[in-house]
Amino acid sequence: MKNALVTNSVSKNFGNFTALNKVSITVPKGSIFGLLGPNGAGKTTLIRIINQITMPDSGSVLLDDEPLQSYHIKDIGYLPEERGLYKTMKVGEQVLYLAQLKGLSKAEAKKRLEHWFEKFEIGDWWNKKIQELSKGMAQKIQFIVTVLHQPKLLIFDEPFSGFDPINANLIKDEILQLREEGATIIFATHRMESVEELCDDIALLHESNKILEGKLVDIKRQYKTNTFEVGLVTDNEAQLKQTIMAKFDASPAVYRSLNNDLKLNIKLKESESSNDLLAFLTSNAQVIHFNELVPTANDIFIQTVKNN
Ligand code: ADP
Ligand code: MG
Repeated sequence: MKNALVTNSVSKNFGNFTALNKVSITVPKGSIFGLLGPNGAGKTTLIRIINQITMPDSGSVLLDDEPLQSYHIKDIGYLPEERGLYKTMKVGEQVLYLAQLKGLSKAEAKKRLEHWFEKFEIGDWWNKKIQELSKGMAQKIQFIVTVLHQPKLLIFDEPFSGFDPINANLIKDEILQLREEGATIIFATHRMESVEELCDDIALLHESNKILEGKLVDIKRQYKTNTFEVGLVTDNEAQLKQTIMAKFDASPAVYRSLNNDLKLNIKLKESESSNDLLAFLTSNAQVIHFNELVPTANDIFIQTVKNN
């Protein structure tokens, strides 16, 4: 069992509209899998199918190599995009109730909840009503409810929307910790910031089709262009530029720096190594910045979506 979840050619139509067109993804066990794509791509629809809320028109889903069954629901922790908590219920009553629905005894639920409320420093929310909480606060509660029964597969739909940067970081750290503890995590997002730090694997959906999938590092390798961003200090900039242009494929670079340096992007040929470039530069100027330009998840997202 290498894969936690596989979807095979899953399709879903709403009337004449195709929300998913033969989408196949493979989520390796123990990975953090980013289900990426612009708004309306079909991410939530696929997640709802995995959670057996919606039935696919065709295709199949395997959880731990088994076709999806109703008893699998308890193996999945799901944070929906539409966060629903009972507004007039008190936080404590509500989380205890939801934890028991997931099969925990009241005593066990209490113990685990105490741990989480302490960890998130929200002990004093216990007797508040949900409607008294801000969106971010309610989302923290819902995150706890999602992970409390320690399911082996966690699915978070847009988990960072509604959080300020501090709380988004808190959730990021928790997601990394959950992977450490052996869980597999799928999270859907249309925003790429979190992807770099979190994802081992990604799939990119666009207009109901999967257009890219794989290990993030492998994809980055495919998209990299052997270009180095350099910052150089010299007392004769015009001369230096000329020397470099004569030997390399160079263009102006744009990045922020505290120095008044000459900023260039230098694209190397197959036969040239970064050491060759560095040696050349150090013999002609003071090198204060040297950085391989690796495409970000955002670059890849934009480029791939445009090409489709
Ligand atoms: P994402 O989560 O990637 O933003 P969704 O899966 O929510 O995208 O939606 C994909 C498309 O399917 C959207 O155009 C949406 O309007 C449509 N859609 C989703 N659910 C329904 C539904 N129950 N009935 C009709 N259209 C739907
Ligand atoms: Mg969505």
